Amino acid sequence: TIKQTQLIEWLKNITLVIRENKDILTALDSEIGDADHGFNMERGFNKVSEKIDELSRSQDIAMLMKNTGMTLISSIGGASGPLYGTFFMQAGAVLGDKTEITLTDLKNSIENGVKGVKDRGRASVGDKTMIDVLEPAVQSLSESVGENLSLEQALSNMVDVAKNGMKSTIDMIAKKGRASYLGERSIGHQDAGATSSYLILKALKETIN
Ligand code: ADP
Ligand code: MG
Ligand code: MG
Repeated sequence: TIKQTQLIEWLKNITLVIRENKDILTALDSEIGDADHGFNMERGFNKVSEKIDELSRSQDIAMLMKNTGMTLISSIGGASGPLYGTFFMQAGAVLGDKTEITLTDLKNSIENGVKGVKDRGRASVGDKTMIDVLEPAVQSLSESVGENLSLEQALSNMVDVAKNGMKSTIDMIAKKGRASYLGERSIGHQDAGATSSYLILKALKETIN
């Protein structure tokens, strides 16, 4: 199982990995966007870090995720703020009052978070967005639940699939977000949001395993 305290560690680790990769995220966004994705993500997760003591007092994992989502929505500008905010809020929405979750809970949580991102942003796999990472990651978790894999194995498979999803965006034509204004000229560049989604999932694996 995953304990609430481990999810708090995850949030801290996301902040660290976003800081480390800020320039990469911004460079990717400068190729086919407006060069602020690293800045946006750092701003959002710095806020999460500043508020981590307050967030840690959330009564259960649902509230922890909800409070994190609200912090992100209120601090990240741009498309990614509402999308990641929705992800965390909806990820919490299916967890009831749990303070410890199983692999099945994690899958249900991430699945609902991704559903929230899709409802809000209307992107599908192939549109060159964070969905190209998040959706296959959910599929991988579902398969791992079906095959009764260990949490460690499931997270490891999920991150492999997420990495492939991130790389798959290089050859795509953007259909959503700013990069879509470029049409075919968006081909040949990795999507910034797909990259931050990969980093967030990788941080989860590294926190738990
Ligand atoms: P902005 O584009 O407003 O400057 P960011 O640079 O922070 O915002 O985030 C851009 C990322 O957001 C893109 O790389 C893409 O992955 C993601 N994105 C944009 N629009 C959508 C959408 N409709 N659905 C899912 N993800 C999206
Ligand atoms: Mg941008
Ligand atoms: Mg912007």
